[in-house]
Amino acid sequence: MPINSTADRTAGRTALTDGELSWQETALCAQTGPELFFPEPGSSTREAKFLCGICEGREACLEYALTHDERFGVWGGLSEQERYALKRGRADRR
Ligand code: SF4
Repeated sequence: MPINSTADRTAGRTALTDGELSWQETALCAQTGPELFFPEPGSSTREAKFLCGICEGREACLEYALTHDERFGVWGGLSEQERYALKRGRADRR
């Protein structure tokens, strides 16, 4: 999950108590600005995806985004379109 605002981090800390968002403790996006993970249309997502690739919470972050239908930004190393395709692929296999 891109954690880039004070509100996000505060929400994350609150949620840490119930464990659902415990992967945010090591989220690398918390150390960057939001522009990397929420780029303007047509901008590169390469740097965000690189950080996701080395982030310990990547799998949990991606599953959170899929479960909560996050529509914007890079989550778990995937763009909006990539998450949509993954979700459709999973639904088609059912
Ligand atoms: S996988 Fe990417 S978006 Fe998710 S917590 Fe890690 S750095 Fe942030």
